[in-house]
Order: sequence, then C-alpha cells, then structure tokens
Amino acid sequence: MLNFRLLAPTALIDLARIPNLAYVRHENGTVAIGAMTRQRHVENSDIVAQQLPLLREALGWVGHLPTRSRGTIGGSLANADPSAELPMALLALDGSVVAAGPGGRRTIAATDLFNSMFSTHLASDEILIEVRIPVMVPGSGFAIEEHARRKGDFAIVGVAVVVQHEGDRCLRARIAACGVGSVAVRLSGAEQILERNGLGPAAINAAAASAAAEIDPLTDPNSSADYRRHLTGVLLGRALRRAAGLSPVAIH
Ligand SMILES: Cc1cc2nc3c(=O)[nH]c(=O)nc-3n(C[C@H](O)[C@H](O)[C@H](O)COP(=O)(O)OP(=O)(O)OC[C@H]3O[C@@H](n4cnc5c(N)ncnc54)[C@H](O)[C@@H]3O)c2cc1C
Repeated sequence: MLNFRLLAPTALIDLARIPNLAYVRHENGTVAIGAMTRQRHVENSDIVAQQLPLLREALGWVGHLPTRSRGTIGGSLANADPSAELPMALLALDGSVVAAGPGGRRTIAATDLFNSMFSTHLASDEILIEVRIPVMVPGSGFAIEEHARRKGDFAIVGVAVVVQHEGDRCLRARIAACGVGSVAVRLSGAEQILERNGLGPAAINAAAASAAAEIDPLTDPNSSADYRRHLTGVLLGRALRRAAGLSPVAIH
C-alpha cells in the first residue's frame, strides 16, 4: 500500500517484533495462531498440518515463498483483499479473530470480520492479536481450487470447501469463495443443497450452479463478472468432487 502510494500515514506502528504475537497452539479443540505469525511458519506447522489441513493447502496458494516468509496471517486478514486466500479459508473453517484495543478484547467471527474491499470491522484503535480456528473433524473432505493468471498471483476466483460426510450423505458443508465480490464470502445456498441432497454428482452440480447464482462479482481489468461467475461454478464442482473423494488429488 505504501509502495503504491495508496497510503501516506503520518505514523507507522511496527508490530513485527512483539514475540508474544507469534505462535501456533492447539488448545481444547481450537488452533490458536498469533496474529504476527509468519505465513510460512503456519504453513510448516505440524499442528496446522494435522488439525487444519485446509489452512495448509490455502497457504500453498498465497503468493510466493519470499512473500509468505514475511507476510503474517493477521496482516493478510486485516488487509481484507477480496482475492486473498486466507480470509476465504477462515470463513470455510468457521474461524474467528481476537481483537484488542483500549476497550479490552473481543472475538469477531469470520462472517462478521470483512466489511468491504480492503476494509474490516476492526475499530481504528484495535489490532488483531489472535486467529482461532476449531480443529477439523477427522475424516472431513476438503479442497481448494483456484484460477489465477500465474502461479502465486492473487486469485481471479478461489473456492474452499470442507465437508463432513458418510459416503454420499453430507452431514455438514462449509463453502467459501474469494475474488467473487468486494469481500470473501460464504456460499450458504450451495452448502444447504449439499446438506439436503448429499454429495452425489447431481447435488454437486446443483450446488455449483447455486454458487454461481449466489455471488455478485465485479468486472475489473483482470476479468469480467460473467467470467468470474462461470469460474465459480466450475471450480466449486471440482473442489466438491475432490473433497468427496470422487476425483484425484489436485496438483498445483
Ligand atoms: C508479490 C506479492 C504477491 C502476493 N500474492 C498474494 C496471494 O496470491 N494471495 C494472498 O492472499 N496474498 C498475497 N500477497 C499478500 C501477502 O501474502 C500478505 O498477506 C500481505 O501483503 C500482508 O502482509 P503483512 O502480513 O506484512 O501485513 P502488512 O502489509 O504489514 O499489513 C497489511 C494491512 O493490515 C494491517 N495489519 C497488519 N497486521 C495487523 C494486525 N495485527 N492488526 C491490525 N491490522 C493489521 C496493516 O496496518 C495494513 O493495513 C502478496 C503480496 C505480494 C507482495
């Protein structure tokens, strides 16, 4: 933002060297991650690999090794780029963040965090101190699918899915997308179709069609709204088939 001269702050507060804000912990069914934990550290964490494999997969899509080595999980969420993968992953994993300010601490659910493009519901005197994500239920199917112009670019569209299932029966579905509007979003219409109709090919096609209709994408120099809508359906179909074990593991 500073390099692009989009921001010209009169003062800058560096949080990077506060050691108490960088950690990954597993406590009582929740993974707690300090806001200033580097993305690469989260990606390499055994706790994250075992308890939140979707988050690990999401980080593989975030920029490049040098950017992940410097970028933080809290910085990505606070930045609220509508095409960023971490806000989408937080939504798909039913996560929340802890904010701290002069008035104390409060927890904000992922669904209440993102306001509009590059804007969150953090108050101007609050910082984000922790990310909290319930561990994934063992055996859950999950997948991220994304389309970007080049590997490492921000998504034109990305989708993340987590499904708890018994065979074709879908006990719980969480679907989120990025690049499809001014903020990352949950696609609850598509989730309900799967929870009602299961994970067979017809239900997956219906959920993909519903997702494409649910979103309100923008046209920008990277792609048209129609193209984003089309991509959302295609990528969600792929992600759901992979999460349900109906197609091979993606390589990206
Ligand atoms: C070349 C390049 C490619 C990239 N590609 C991708 C990509 O494909 N996908 C993707 O998701 N991201 C991508 N990124 C973004 C990158 O991954 C970082 O997430 C992002 O730049 C934020 O970096 P940071 O953590 O250093 O936060 P900063 O840049 O320091 O901060 C970003 C914003 O968040 C605020 N902020 C930071 N921490 C906090 C906090 N704890 N509490 C409150 N506010 C806070 C800052 O004030 C600022 O407004 C890319 C970045 C680069 C440079």
